[in-house]
Amino acid sequence: MKRMIASIAAALALSIASADAQSYPTRPVTVIVPFAAGGPTDIVARIVSDYLSKTLGQQFIVENVAGAGGTTGTTRLTQATPDGYTLMMGHMGTHGAAPALYPNLKYDPTKDFEPIGLVAGTPIIIVARKDFPAANLQEFIARAKNTGEKLSQAHAGVGSVSFTTCTLLTAQLGVKHHRVVAYRGTGPALNDMVGGQVDYMCDQIVNLVEQIKGNAIKAYAIATEKRSPALPDVPTTKEAGLPDYQVSAWNALFAPKGTPKDILAKLNETYVKALDDEATRKRLLDLGSVLPDKAGRTPEALATLVKSEVARWAPILKTTPAQ
Ligand code: ASP
Repeated sequence: MKRMIASIAAALALSIASADAQSYPTRPVTVIVPFAAGGPTDIVARIVSDYLSKTLGQQFIVENVAGAGGTTGTTRLTQATPDGYTLMMGHMGTHGAAPALYPNLKYDPTKDFEPIGLVAGTPIIIVARKDFPAANLQEFIARAKNTGEKLSQAHAGVGSVSFTTCTLLTAQLGVKHHRVVAYRGTGPALNDMVGGQVDYMCDQIVNLVEQIKGNAIKAYAIATEKRSPALPDVPTTKEAGLPDYQVSAWNALFAPKGTPKDILAKLNETYVKALDDEATRKRLLDLGSVLPDKAGRTPEALATLVKSEVARWAPILKTTPAQ
């Protein structure tokens, strides 16, 4: 009898959960972006949120919770009710590099989240203000190494992608004398670079394509094996004479730990459709995103990526003194 009651209760709980997932979402969903509006994480989040809103019939609203290189917004997600109504767009910094740089980090990227899916690979480009007096990467390197000159480098806070990837660059060049300027995201950093207030930055391609094409900034090199179809004129670091500087970032969707499995499955299924949707794909590809193939779109693939990124960045950042 007891066993029968238990199994009826379990069946009931299951059917309530799947009924929840069937009707989900019944109200707006918040998508935390842990950086300022207008930057790459924000751009990618808004593209995906547009599709999710249209397809699931409720607004997916981006909320920018910037600070501490993205770790403030990420911590906020871990404190949210795991009911599918708060999600986040994380990235290689928040879910890869941060543990190596924040000894008191309040979350573990490998344990405290439900991965939904990798949205976009985002190659890194070395860019500078348009009137920066260096015509190509080699001239830029010469100026960067010149200790008589103190270049200013923009980034989105300790642990951000721009911070970690430019830390890697300056370490490879042996440069220690730059002035770093922290922003709440690389959207505002880029605005200042267009205005000529900062000299250079390493950032995710999706933030940069329009400004590079419009000659509002200079692009020295893309840190990938091959040129990007979105920016065919920008040489690779290999072509530009810095072959060892190879680095890419990514953006991905996460939910808080404990979000019901059926809701996670629905979110994954819908985000996969977003990546196959012609208009959404085009928006992401035109900005230089590298879209994951079928195998790279599962929650398991994202969990594996997060683990490998945490392991990859720890030794690099521990031995690379931040400026
Ligand atoms: N790309 C930025 C970073 O450096 C963050 C942003 O999306 O604004 O991490």
